Amino acid sequence: MNSISKLARLFEQFPGIGPRQAKRFVYFLLTRNPAFINELSTLITELKQEIMLCASCFRFFAADRAGSTLCPMCRDKHRDRSTLAIVSTDADLETIEKSHSFNGLYFVLGGSVPILESEPEKRVRTRELMETLEPRAKSGELKEIILATSLNLEGEHTADFVRSLLSPFIEKYGLKISTLGRGLSTGTELEYSDADTIKNALKNRTI
Ligand SMILES: [Zn+2]
Repeated sequence: MNSISKLARLFEQFPGIGPRQAKRFVYFLLTRNPAFINELSTLITELKQEIMLCASCFRFFAADRAGSTLCPMCRDKHRDRSTLAIVSTDADLETIEKSHSFNGLYFVLGGSVPILESEPEKRVRTRELMETLEPRAKSGELKEIILATSLNLEGEHTADFVRSLLSPFIEKYGLKISTLGRGLSTGTELEYSDADTIKNALKNRTI
């Protein structure tokens, strides 16, 4: 296999990228100058060295010199610790942040649960979620959990899975659990929703 095919095989593993698009990426790179290629390869190499996973919300963040295990958002004292939004991906978290309509904390599941998945607990951060929620609920700090998943079949299935997973725990600590309001039209991927839509979906969330 030559370099073109090898690189295309790697691009094919990117989300939403098929074989033809993967090949287009490779040919695009071939037209770029060496400085572009160098910057790209350096940034890719540095990515894993500089980016850490937050020990509380499990989102990726740029490591600081102090070597904190928590991201700046989880360390921010101005954020409302009584509300936690559970999202599928880092991209979904960023979309909600950009809408400036939520000031609580987050938890990133790291994926979603496809319908008919026989081992849903392996598709999302189940253990990490329970470990991070328990002490906060116990201390009385956490009051509400918002299931902020996409309004498509997989997103709703993920929300259902998390809701049933958390139900004993919700009862035990008397927490409120809600899902985003139907302001989002059905089939909407959270990541691609605009700020107003997110704002309404949060405002009209249903228990
Ligand atoms: Zn964090």
